[in-house]
Amino acid sequence: MPPPNPLEALLIRRIRATGPLTLADYMAECLLHPEHGYYTTRPPFGLEGDFITAPEISQMFGELLGLCLAQYWLDHGRPEAFTLAELGPGRGTLMADVLRATRGVPGFHAAARVTLVEASPRLRDQQRSLLCAHPVSWLDTPDQLPEAPLYLIANEFFDALPIRQFTRDARGWRETVVTATDRLAYARTPPAPVAALDYRLHDTIPGEIVETCAAAAAITQGLAARIARQGGLALILDYGGWHARGDTFQALRHHAFADPLQNPGEADLTAHVDFAALAEAASPCHIRYTTQGALLANLGIAARAATLAQRLDGPALESHHAATRRLTDPAEMGTLFKALALFAPGAAPPAGFPTEPPPSAHSQDRHAPIRP
Ligand code: SAH
Repeated sequence: MPPPNPLEALLIRRIRATGPLTLADYMAECLLHPEHGYYTTRPPFGLEGDFITAPEISQMFGELLGLCLAQYWLDHGRPEAFTLAELGPGRGTLMADVLRATRGVPGFHAAARVTLVEASPRLRDQQRSLLCAHPVSWLDTPDQLPEAPLYLIANEFFDALPIRQFTRDARGWRETVVTATDRLAYARTPPAPVAALDYRLHDTIPGEIVETCAAAAAITQGLAARIARQGGLALILDYGGWHARGDTFQALRHHAFADPLQNPGEADLTAHVDFAALAEAASPCHIRYTTQGALLANLGIAARAATLAQRLDGPALESHHAATRRLTDPAEMGTLFKALALFAPGAAPPAGFPTEPPPSAHSQDRHAPIRP
């Protein structure tokens, strides 16, 4: 067996000294440890990285979302100074596409304060070089966003936030933790009631796994409070569904699934996003929810794809068609990826989203009410 990598050695020492880690503690260390963390040390995106995201697949993704934000801004009073923000901008590609697509919207760029929330100094450097034509400022956390109308995008940001995982048992919930003997291993705590999971007692049965993400709820609450006070729109896109269900904690390395406990800090660790939990945290804002495929179709991806296709032929045209399919096809990213919009009470829903809110969490329940 190869020797533990530096982060694994460090985590083993910590666990021996202070006890097992929750998955949330483990994820936070693996992703953002200042010396050994995944996002702090390596280039995660593209062919040479571990995964590829929608904006890296096609410029159309950022263009259509940018126009959706700009249309909302036009329709809601064109505030003269507003925050145009992105959470977890990666290489900066999405914001670059948003800015290019909205260049022709009168007054939009002059009013926008482009603000990126990015924890990784290395990725900030990449974002700075890609977005050098625009004044941009960086924040460490979303709670530092200024008090101003907020137009925000977050793509594949929430899946990187640390989760905790619980397995239901006849006597309560057992939490998945990371222990260490000579290597890192999973263990489960003894069953105990968890007040924060009482609301899942009626839609789960013993043996089922649920995941919670306190950071996602807190961030959504903060965004919703700002938008309710100041106006604006947040578009959150990610993989996941309505209610977390099952074990979705996963590691991606070199475009393949890997064991999350192997080579900590060298793989991307994520979990599916629970959009019902985000929707719950979004009060008092109103929400709309749909799939990425439906959203992009409603925003006009077919017309945009046809326009771009006119300038292409041969392999470039083939790869453009493949990229369009990859973003929208139900067998690819079209239905696994969801989109949630948050907007102020009393305002109209944004372009591309359903006119009606999603059915309440309860109508999505699979099981009859069961209590232990
Ligand atoms: N949105 C980009 C990148 C997604 S990867 C795209 O679609 O291509 C996740 C991004 O979120 C990275 O930029 C990562 O450094 C950042 N990130 C992850 N956790 C973070 C946190 N807790 N605070 C701020 N940024 C974070």
